Amino acid sequence: MVNSDSSLSHSHLGPSMEQHDIKGNSGWSEIDEWGPEKVLQVYDPDTGMKGVLVIDNTSTGPGKGGIRFAESVTPAEVFKLARTMTWKCASAGLPFGGAKGGIIANPSKVNQVEWMKSFAKMISPYCPSQYIAATDVGTTELDMAVFAHEIGDMRACTGKPQELGGIPHELGTTGYGVSVALRTTLDFLRDIKHEGSKASRPFFDLTTSLDKKSDDIKVVIQGFGNVGSFATKFLNDLHIKVIGVSDVSGFVFDENGLDIPQLMSDMKEKARLSDLLDNHQQQQHRYDLLDKDEIFNVATDIFIPAALTGVINDNTAPKLLKNNVNIIVEAANIPTTPSADQYLVNNGILIIPDFLANAGGVIGSFVEYQGRTEKEAFDLIEYKITNNVKRALYNSLSSTDQADNTSEFSIRKVAMETAKQIVYRAMLLRKGAISVAREAYARKQQVIY
Ligand code: NAD
Repeated sequence: MVNSDSSLSHSHLGPSMEQHDIKGNSGWSEIDEWGPEKVLQVYDPDTGMKGVLVIDNTSTGPGKGGIRFAESVTPAEVFKLARTMTWKCASAGLPFGGAKGGIIANPSKVNQVEWMKSFAKMISPYCPSQYIAATDVGTTELDMAVFAHEIGDMRACTGKPQELGGIPHELGTTGYGVSVALRTTLDFLRDIKHEGSKASRPFFDLTTSLDKKSDDIKVVIQGFGNVGSFATKFLNDLHIKVIGVSDVSGFVFDENGLDIPQLMSDMKEKARLSDLLDNHQQQQHRYDLLDKDEIFNVATDIFIPAALTGVINDNTAPKLLKNNVNIIVEAANIPTTPSADQYLVNNGILIIPDFLANAGGVIGSFVEYQGRTEKEAFDLIEYKITNNVKRALYNSLSSTDQADNTSEFSIRKVAMETAKQIVYRAMLLRKGAISVAREAYARKQQVIY
């Protein structure tokens, strides 16, 4: 199933690049039938740059995924993020596969431009034919400008500045998609209640718990960076009440709902929520900054993790349950550990998984890749996320109906199954399995293209 590229020998890649071909004796323990196809660990002795590129699966197109620039980056983490991209691109019906890059350092403690150039140079044999980069934690549109110029091809990455024909993630495409995912979920729950559909127990319990006007539904958002702050803004535009936001420096909370336009205006030119308390008396009076982890101790209907991986775990999941959380919309990548996921699903919490909820960024990237406009990006995000979330919810509803009121329903499992079918068919098509190709085309309507 897996595709190793023997034409790219060690010497082509330069003396300082290690190539772990997955068919060889790489010692890589994560390989399964889906990938990864390539794992590259790069080191530049001149700059000190250390990085990782994982190309997970390219059967549906060149691997797409951001470059994470952080001290905590590990090959295992980059692999997990690359795999998430495989499912995300397939679920969104995009002609991209899954990949991810990582540069291992705190970007503010190294020469960020030199390190980005060095990373680009090291992985250039694969860009853009097998890997198309984008921004992620620690990288911005400016890094993408550096990356594209170093590769010498504007198609090598998306999320570039507008001057380079880009649709930067800084326009809030991912946060917008998160707000669409939540709105679609709430509409779906209202619809099945009004239709009096024979919803199975867990869905019925949810429609009862959330039987409120949309401006009475309460949301908290962990992370107030690119994704979290735009999700906050777009949810406020939908009149959904955001009662708390947190970042690495603290948690701002008002159980009656934060004044989001005021918060956005106060946060202009500020990096962290704690900066709200600096030298400005009026602002100091407006906000009470709590410990960042207090976000897990407030009563709310919806929890949106928009910061780090693994924050919903065996320690925090019971707190969410105790505080009446009904829905989790995963804006961050892999925010929920598998055991916490199982625990929450068993207890009737509905989780919209990351690869559906935060696909706005990569859908916007696809529009940029095609040379289309910002307006088209936002329209396509709305169209695809609405349809994909709705389809996953309906499929999940019918699978719980069939299971005769089982006490669990996992949107993740149902949506993952659809994504796997798409990737599997693409892998067969790549192999040239023509008879299977016919069947693959016959089922194409399952995905929103
Ligand atoms: P960012 O760096 O802009 O923001 C991260 C935020 O998380 C910051 O506000 C930071 O202070 C906060 N944070 C860090 N540690 C925290 C903690 N312990 N508690 C509370 N807050 C904490 O990153 P981003 O681009 O907004 O990405 C956030 C998540 O969304 C990541 O998991 C990323 O992989 C995922 N994601 C991002 C995009 C995108 O377009 N940027 C697309 C898809 C998924």
